[in-house]
Amino acid sequence: MTQHGKSPAPESKGQTETLALFVSDIHLQEAMPRTAEAFLGFLRHRAPHAQELYLLGDLFEYWAGDDDIPEPFNRKIVEALRELTTAGVAVHWIAGNRDFLVGAAFAESAGLTLLSDPHVATFAGKRIALAHGDAQCTDDTGYMAFRTQVRQPAWQQGFLAMPLEKRKAIIAEMRSGSREAQRGKSYEIMDVNADAIDALFARTGAQILIHGHTHRPARHILRDGRLRYVLPDWDCDAATPRGGWIALGRDGAITRHGLDGEEIA
Ligand code: MN
Repeated sequence: MTQHGKSPAPESKGQTETLALFVSDIHLQEAMPRTAEAFLGFLRHRAPHAQELYLLGDLFEYWAGDDDIPEPFNRKIVEALRELTTAGVAVHWIAGNRDFLVGAAFAESAGLTLLSDPHVATFAGKRIALAHGDAQCTDDTGYMAFRTQVRQPAWQQGFLAMPLEKRKAIIAEMRSGSREAQRGKSYEIMDVNADAIDALFARTGAQILIHGHTHRPARHILRDGRLRYVLPDWDCDAATPRGGWIALGRDGAITRHGLDGEEIA
C-alpha cells in the first residue's frame, strides 16, 4: 500500500501491541534540525501504534511561554502532536527543567494532558512511577535551590508577565550560565541521588520508575526487585546520532529501543 507520505492509520486501539511509549530529553530546537526531523518521524510512524505516549520532560531545549506557540518551529511540533492526539493516541506531559513553563494553552493546542511530577501510571495492575528526574538530583544543591524558586507560581507569573523577547534573552543568559556551572560539577553530583530515588519509590508505592534528565540511558535493578529505567537524550545532529525510547507492551514487558526502533538488550 502506498502511504503518500502519511503515517499508516493505527490499527484499532484495542489491537495495538504497544500500550505506551516513553520519551524525554529531545531538546528540540531550531539549531538541531535532524533531531527535530527524527522526532517528527517518531510521532508520525511509531507513536500512532501505541495507545499512549508519555513525554517525560525537556522535549524542548527551552520554553519561554505559551505565547511562543505561533513561532514556526514550535508550531510545527505542536501541530504534529495535535495530529497524533486527534488520531486517538493519548499524549501526556511531564515538565522538564527546560520546558517547565509549558502551560494550559500548549496542552490545549497539542491536545495533551499535563501531569505532575512524579506521576504514577497503572497498566494492567502494574504501578509505574514517571518523573523527569531533575528533582531527584538532590546532590546538586545549587540547582535544587533554583528549581524551588522557578517552580513557584508567583515567580512564574512574574516571569511570564515580561515581554516574550525579554524572556528569551533572560533564558539565553541562564543557559550559558548553566553550561558554565555544569563544567565545575562532578559526574556524581549531576546524577540522581539514591536516597531521593528510594523516597520516590516509597512515596509512589511503585516498583518501577522511568525517568530521563541525566542522559545516562540504563536499566538499573535495585533492591527488592525494583527497576529504574533511564531514558536517553536525543541528538541526531551529532556525528553519531543518539536517541530512543522505552515501550510498554500489552504483555507488560518493558523494552528499550534505539533510534531505529531496534530493541536494546
Ligand atoms: Mn532535564
